[in-house]
Amino acid sequence: MNIHKIVLPTPYPIGDVNAFLVKGDTLTLFDAGPKTQEAYEALKWGINEAGYNMKDIEQVVLTHHHPDHAGWVDAFPNADILGHEYVDHWMRKTEEFITYRNNFYHKQLKLQAVPEKYIEKIVQVRGEMELFGTTPLTAFINDGDEVPGHPGLKAVYTPGHAQSHLIFLDQSTNEAIGGDLLLENVASNPLVEPPVDLSETRPKSLIQYQDSLKILHDLHVSKIYTGHGNEIEDIDRLITIRLEKDRLRALQVLEILNKPKSVLEVTMELYASVYQKQLGLTLSKTLGQLDCLERDGFVTHEIVDGINIYSRI
Ligand SMILES: [Zn+2]
Ligand SMILES: [Zn+2]
Repeated sequence: MNIHKIVLPTPYPIGDVNAFLVKGDTLTLFDAGPKTQEAYEALKWGINEAGYNMKDIEQVVLTHHHPDHAGWVDAFPNADILGHEYVDHWMRKTEEFITYRNNFYHKQLKLQAVPEKYIEKIVQVRGEMELFGTTPLTAFINDGDEVPGHPGLKAVYTPGHAQSHLIFLDQSTNEAIGGDLLLENVASNPLVEPPVDLSETRPKSLIQYQDSLKILHDLHVSKIYTGHGNEIEDIDRLITIRLEKDRLRALQVLEILNKPKSVLEVTMELYASVYQKQLGLTLSKTLGQLDCLERDGFVTHEIVDGINIYSRI
């Protein structure tokens, strides 16, 4: 792949995010950073450094809809914007979608036993929309599709970290643009998000994520250009480390379930020192572990007074 990496600052704890300029039959930018002035300057500088300017970009392709990746879709007047169809909801932000999204989180957090006064706060924080782009998608990319203008560059649907997540595999070199599927220095968070079909059914994000890592493993990718940090070549080793860490965390959760508990109760024990600061994220992680334990037959749950109560089998 003729690929030029552009590192962009973000206001998020994760730090810098990567965008990649790829010259094929079409000049395509993969991911576009958060919608901040600093990221815009860095993006412009990076594109200039590669010998182009913003107007030359013919296509922006998104790995997923998160604001650190999908902000500056608004900066390219001549570009088509492509991504998974779920991204489009987050770009358009219709009142109907925002209401649906808020109701979805409200219902889920209630089931997790989160008190009403915290629910509003989490729903709001999750709703910080100003760093998202606002340009609707020109076209959707599905699992298995080839990226227009890049023969042999194939999209692979890899949900879990985000419901819209795609990686792009170059079938001639077996290199991939990987978004946040696998990162060098941190585990990708299995965030709870509304489902792709906009129903009431909660996707089991950590199970999806682990399945996506298995897909990545089976693709035998030689090198992955990641959304944050360095490229990764020793991919199988890192996948093993991530899955093993999940397994140990699941054992911890099983220990905490010495009696039936809500997701909030488990979270407060599992993430005692950080849950107050990062309640939405830690609840997502705990719920992911509980889903895996349920999948593996160690745990079951029932609804008691409107709250999901988990217990060992
Ligand atoms: Zn992300
Ligand atoms: Zn990211």
